Amino acid sequence: MRIDFVTIFPKMFEPLLAEGVIARGIGKGLLDVRVWDLRDYATDRHRSTDDEAYGGGPGMVMLAEPVLRCAEAIGGGSVIMTSPQGRVFDQNAARELAAREWIVFLCGRYEGFDHRVHEALQPEELSIGDFVVSGGELPAMLMADAVGRMIEGVVGNSGSVAEDSFFNGLLDYPHYTRPEELRGMRVPDILLSGHHEKIRKWRKEQALRATAKKRPDLLETASLDDEGRKMLKGMRDER
Ligand code: SAH
Repeated sequence: MRIDFVTIFPKMFEPLLAEGVIARGIGKGLLDVRVWDLRDYATDRHRSTDDEAYGGGPGMVMLAEPVLRCAEAIGGGSVIMTSPQGRVFDQNAARELAAREWIVFLCGRYEGFDHRVHEALQPEELSIGDFVVSGGELPAMLMADAVGRMIEGVVGNSGSVAEDSFFNGLLDYPHYTRPEELRGMRVPDILLSGHHEKIRKWRKEQALRATAKKRPDLLETASLDDEGRKMLKGMRDER
C-alpha cells in the first residue's frame, strides 16, 4: 500500500519513518510512504504556502495553488484532508482506508486550506475527534498508523491486530506477562492452566465485560455470535 503526506513540515515525519510499525512496514516492502514538502510547489521566490484571509480576520490560510500542483506531481491516490470538520476517524474508517491501494493525506496548518482545494480535489475529510490541534501532521500520522497496522504482515503477529480493541466492535481483554505474582497480585489461574478452550472463553467474556462496563454504547453495534450473546445475557442476569 502507498501512503503520501503533503505538509509544510516534512521533518515531523522522520520519526514515523525511522521507528515503529510504519517503519517496519516500509522495511518489509509492504508500505511505500512518501512525504512531500509543499514549499517545493510554491509559485513565488519566498516559497510561500499561506496568505492572509479574504474578508479579514486573524489567522493565515493555506494557498490552494501549491496544494494543487503538489497533488498533480503525486499523480494519484485517494485524497484525504485532515480536518476537524471531517467524519470522525475510527476502526471502521481505518479498515476502509487499509483496503485502498494508495492514500494521500493533506496536512493543514493555520486556519486550514483555501476552500477551493475542496472544489478542485474533492478530498474526503477525516477528523481525529472533536477538538482542534494546530496541524494535520499528527492527525495524519495517527491515522496512517491505524491503517498501516491493518495491512497483512506489517504487524509481526497478525492475530494481535485481529484481537485489538474495536476490531470486532469490542474492547480488548486484559493482558498479563511475567511474573506470575507481582507485589501480591496474581495472574488469573485460568491463564496458567494451559487449557486453550477455557482461556479463549475467559478472554471473550472479559472483552464483553470490559465493553459493558467502559463503553456500553459499543455493544449496540458490535457483531456478536451466539456464544457472545449468551455470555452477555448471563452477565446481565447476574445483576
Ligand atoms: N480553522 C479550522 C481549524 C484549523 S486547525 C477549523 O476550525 O476547521 C489547522 C489544521 O490542523 C487543519 O487544517 C487540519 O489539517 C488539522 N487539524 C486540526 N484539528 C484536527 C482534527 N481534529 N482532526 C484532523 N485534523 C485536524
